This record gives sequence, structure tokens and C-alpha cells, in this order.
Amino acid sequence: ENNAAVTAEMVDDVARKHFPPCMRNLYDRLKRDSHLKHFGRLQLGLFLKGIGLPLDEAIVFWRKMYGSTMSDDKFNKEYKYNIRHGYGQEGKRTNYPPRSCQQILTQNQPGTQDTHGCPFRHFSPETLSSFLLSTYPTLDRSSNDLKEIMDSVKNSHYHLSCTRVFELTHGIKKGEGLGSGESVTHPNKWTERSRDLEK
Ligand code: SF4
Repeated sequence: ENNAAVTAEMVDDVARKHFPPCMRNLYDRLKRDSHLKHFGRLQLGLFLKGIGLPLDEAIVFWRKMYGSTMSDDKFNKEYKYNIRHGYGQEGKRTNYPPRSCQQILTQNQPGTQDTHGCPFRHFSPETLSSFLLSTYPTLDRSSNDLKEIMDSVKNSHYHLSCTRVFELTHGIKKGEGLGSGESVTHPNKWTERSRDLEK
């Protein structure tokens, strides 16, 4: 397992190379809008904790992402607490684990204005295919791969679609998944495996 620490400065590079679709979507939207709604912040924040972003770096990361759209005062008063809370440093001091695919697929269903959730389950087919093609340029629009991914989505086999995207974007043979046929069941597993493969 790759638990090498991630700094705020490294997140962008790790995101481009090693984030699964759900987290790429959240991260790209955060970058574009300097904003994420509550459940999106939670989903991405716990994921980042899981990939090894320590609390002090998380504070640096979120402060940078909000940029000038938010005053230091507002950030310190309203957002820092929530970040610390996610790391078990406030309130009941629960160290919340990153969300699994199952939780992301079934809990807190996103509304139309939301960015959290799983793209395979929560995007329309048109949005999903254009998102995948623009996010993972190695995916081939004209090959059968995209059609296969979209067919699995139609049959509600979201894990299969996600696993196939992992294989295709990492040069892994079909059926090998994350290794020995393991399919994607946790966004953090995608990233761990992807970082391992780079070594
Ligand atoms: Fe994220 Fe899991 Fe959906 Fe893949 S299947 S995009 S890892 S929630």
C-alpha cells in the first residue's frame, strides 16, 4: 500500500494521475468554482485524509482552493472547524473514515445542484460519457470500450464500469481490475493502487 504523505501542493498532480472519477469530478469542480457544497466537501475531504493529506496540509489546501472568493475571517470561523472536525479534532472527536463506493452510491443522494456522489450512478449518460472522455483522454471514443462502460452503467453495474475505466487508464488487462480481479469498491483503493503502479 502506498501511504506516502501528500502535501497540499501535491494534490493537483495526484488528482490528475490517480483520482477515481468521483473525486476527479469534485476536485475539478472545486478548482473551477472555488466552492463545493457540504456533502461534496465531506466526500472529497475524507478521501484526501485517506490518501495521506495531514490536517495542517488540509487546511492549507482548502484555504488555497477557496482563494479570494472567501475572506480569511470567514474561512477561519466557518470552514476550519469543519476540516478539523473531519480529522477528529473537534466535537466528539470521531475520526471519520473515507466513504466507500457503497456509501457514496446509496447515501445522501445528490440533487441537480450537487457535485458529490458517483458519476456512474448520478450523471446522465450524456454527461457521463463526455465527462469520462474529457477527464481521461486515453479513453477512446470510437472503440468498443466506452460503449461497454455505458452498457454496464445501464445495467446498474457501476463498480464494473469504474473498474473498467481503471484498467483502461492504467494499461491493465480486462478482468484484472485493481489486481487479481479485484473490482473498485472504494475510491481510496483506486488511488492507492494507482500510486503503487507508478512506483
Ligand atoms: Fe467513485 Fe466508487 Fe463511483 Fe468509482 S464506483 S466513481 S470509486 S464512487
